[in-house]
Amino acid sequence: MSDLRDLYQEVILDHNKRPRNFGGLEDANRRAEGHNPLCGDRLTLHVKVEADRVVDVAFEGSGCAISKASASMMTDSVKGRTVGEIDALFHGFHDMVTSAPGTAVDPRLGKLAVFAGVAEYPMRVKCASLAWHTLEAALHHPDSVVTTEDETEK
Ligand code: ZN
Repeated sequence: MSDLRDLYQEVILDHNKRPRNFGGLEDANRRAEGHNPLCGDRLTLHVKVEADRVVDVAFEGSGCAISKASASMMTDSVKGRTVGEIDALFHGFHDMVTSAPGTAVDPRLGKLAVFAGVAEYPMRVKCASLAWHTLEAALHHPDSVVTTEDETEK
């Protein structure tokens, strides 16, 4: 368990310092914003979907190290996957961070398994899940989000 905790720290620090897929995405066709008021994490996801598959994804925003590292690793993990595969990953991730510490992790999560450590810190679960909830919104409710944003944006 302490090995996993070390790995967790290491991965979070690394992705926080050098977030992958950070920035805008010119040809994105889906977008969603996420906000975790408990911690002050905010992020915007830009997603390019083609034939039910996420071909590219990028994020912008600011927040704590865990929210940023989670967004960074999520974008890495979902690129090239179908919406159905991403839904399965989302559910696996959600189960992992909300189940009792030490519960066996779904092997399909791959390197996302380092976030199993978050289950020990209930306050951090929302930080780690924010990017995933925002992605689900971008994939399943894109029109409402995009329309609202377009109308209110100055
Ligand atoms: Zn946070």
